[in-house]
Amino acid sequence: MDRKEGPSTRSVHLAEQVDPRTRAIVPPVVQNSAFAFENLDEWRAVAQHEAAGDIYSRNSNPTTRRFEEKMAALEGAESASSFGTGMAAISTTLFALLNPGQRVVTVRDAYGATYLHFTQILPRFGINCDVCETDDHEAIEAAIAKGCDLLYLETPTNPTLKVLDLDRLIQAAHKKGATAVVDNTFATPINQTPVEFGADLVIHSATKFLCGHGDAMGGVVCGRKDLVEKIFHHRELTGPTLDAHSAYLLLRSLKTLGLRIQRQNENAIALAGFLEQHPKVEQVYYPGLGNHPGHEIARRQMSGFGGVLSFELKGGMEAAADFLPRLRYAYMAPNLGQVETIVGPAALTSHVELNEEERKASGVPDGLIRYAVGIEDVDDLQADLDKALAGI
Ligand SMILES: *Cc1c(COP(=O)(O)O)cnc(C)c1O
Repeated sequence: MDRKEGPSTRSVHLAEQVDPRTRAIVPPVVQNSAFAFENLDEWRAVAQHEAAGDIYSRNSNPTTRRFEEKMAALEGAESASSFGTGMAAISTTLFALLNPGQRVVTVRDAYGATYLHFTQILPRFGINCDVCETDDHEAIEAAIAKGCDLLYLETPTNPTLKVLDLDRLIQAAHKKGATAVVDNTFATPINQTPVEFGADLVIHSATKFLCGHGDAMGGVVCGRKDLVEKIFHHRELTGPTLDAHSAYLLLRSLKTLGLRIQRQNENAIALAGFLEQHPKVEQVYYPGLGNHPGHEIARRQMSGFGGVLSFELKGGMEAAADFLPRLRYAYMAPNLGQVETIVGPAALTSHVELNEEERKASGVPDGLIRYAVGIEDVDDLQADLDKALAGI
């Protein structure tokens, strides 16, 4: 499909096909572990990749393949591989591509469990990880210049919504021959397609916006065919596969991705503006705000600023504890990207795996509230925030 088609047309029609056997419009759920053959020649041909087909669902499955094809198309990537969770996608990518003695450059504000891969897990395997200050592009470039096999970025970051210049940093990585990996969970392919800026691999926690309804978990890696193949082979052996039923739920969700993200973009920017003006709010973090340090970069590389904002109240964690239960239209929970607004302190959501010291080092202010906007009517959400703020 042509790139100039709009986000909802792309979400509905990209990589869709009528099922050739049943004429079903909706992809059938092939809820099935193993596939049977007529004879050994047929079996051998599929096993040796001489003929198309599936053998065992840990390796491949028709429904999960439909999800992979759709995600590759939405990201403008050559290929994709799917996983049972976002962390399975991230962990498998790192272990499939890195060897002892190699060097990773990344940023402090990565998702909590990802950050712990760089600070605790990979160093145990002799992989050297340079974790840079997220706001400091010069420092990231200097770290890359020292030698880099893999650059790992996340933008906008969770939960402080910092923005990284993909074009600039990926160019620096490619000069050193490094593989550039971008976690695009917060932006989604509706707001940002990192492949356009040279990313070799784009990762998602499909649990968040891609699913959008809080009823399935998943992960996906999209990008260069040779790299995705290497990651897929690692996944075949280690087994963190996406199951067919979750793939079906994710495919169903992707049909409304454009619609949902546009609504969430609109809601988030309106509420960020409202909160910024409120006397009980200390600071709002949202890349759509003109005074956000990453605003200019975000305008260049994103077509919308996303559905997550965060803010600090005057009075920190104590005020947050008083404020959060007063909200009527927001669930206190650790997810984001759902049709329902979801809210929680960063200390208990993205950074729950970190201790207080590590959280401080990651620049997550104590009492920071992450507000993941749903698709509700913005006037109702604003009135809800207003009333809860008046109560504290
Ligand atoms: C949630 C999240 C992950 C991890 O995904 P799971 O599906 O929970 O394993 C990774 N990166 C980002 C940015 C996330 O928000």
